[in-house]
Amino acid sequence: QAKTSGRNLIRFFDMGMQEQVTARAILGNELREAIQKNQFVLHYQPQMNEAGCITGAEALLRWMHPRHGVMPPDSFISVAEDTGLILPIGRFVMETACAQLVAWAARPETAHLTLSINVSAAQFRDQEFIDHTLATVKSSGVNSCKIMLEITESLLLNSLEGIIEKMFELKTRGISFSLDDFGTGYSSLAYLKHLPIDQLKIDKSFIRDVLTDMNDAVIVRTIIALAKSMELNIIAEGVETKEQRELLAKNGCFAYQGYLYAGPMATEELEQYMQQLIAKTTACTSTSAGNE
Ligand code: C2E
Ligand code: MG
Ligand code: MG
Ligand code: MG
Repeated sequence: QAKTSGRNLIRFFDMGMQEQVTARAILGNELREAIQKNQFVLHYQPQMNEAGCITGAEALLRWMHPRHGVMPPDSFISVAEDTGLILPIGRFVMETACAQLVAWAARPETAHLTLSINVSAAQFRDQEFIDHTLATVKSSGVNSCKIMLEITESLLLNSLEGIIEKMFELKTRGISFSLDDFGTGYSSLAYLKHLPIDQLKIDKSFIRDVLTDMNDAVIVRTIIALAKSMELNIIAEGVETKEQRELLAKNGCFAYQGYLYAGPMATEELEQYMQQLIAKTTACTSTSAGNE
């Protein structure tokens, strides 16, 4: 073929963008329909302690698309955010999560479970977020101490003051906060001491190569030390191997989420998973701080 001229490149680029715009518009319409037709579900990924017992779960959104099957959030969250549809979707997530916690609370085997819920910046900035969250907590009858909201550093980029105020409002009602994907954001560490957060969640991108990449190992150790010195809880996501888990434990991180244990799953599957755990790990019926 002939050499690509600058003009052709621009045209090609324009076409690509146009296609992208169209695709996002279609997705936006489908999302609107998906909300009306209740095509969203929550899956739950276990969070484990050092004894190998499940302490809680993270709620992860799935779209049961009529033609494409199960769609992961990365394929539609950004469109949902741009179109504002993340607000009704987020309300669904909060309501479903609270109902799930209430169901767990009713049974002794699951009563101790906490639930981490992802909240994107667009949701948290919405002025109705606090009211809706508190109303949902109240009407569901959930114990708010079981709820942990996962926010990301992108929320903290501007107008920190209003954000902190909102966080305190929820904190005084018993809800706690985790800083998700920690280490991947742009913010400086200076904001950390002003935030009423309870937990840092080490991003999975640092865990992936932590055994072979010295930089990742140093970052992981530093985040754990930071959490310790600020008296924050620490959890690692994306833990896939025993060796990763052991390295984390050696450095003082004793809470884990990842495929080493289980991926996100439907609530019935989670209950089965817990039954299997209880059957094979006697430690899970009592609190254990020792080795496995
Ligand atoms: P996140 O909150 O950082 O969630 C962790 C992601 O890592 C999940 O992807 C999970 O399935 C995946 N994961 C878990 N264990 C492993 C592992 O061992 N290895 C690897 N490679 N990945 C693992 P998922 O479910 O596709 O969610 C992607 C992102 O979408 C989430 O990242 C979160 O930012 C967003 N999201 C999910 N659910 C919601 C929601 O209800 N509301 C909002 N606003 N955002 C959500
Ligand atoms: Mg998360
Ligand atoms: Mg994360
Ligand atoms: Mg993430």
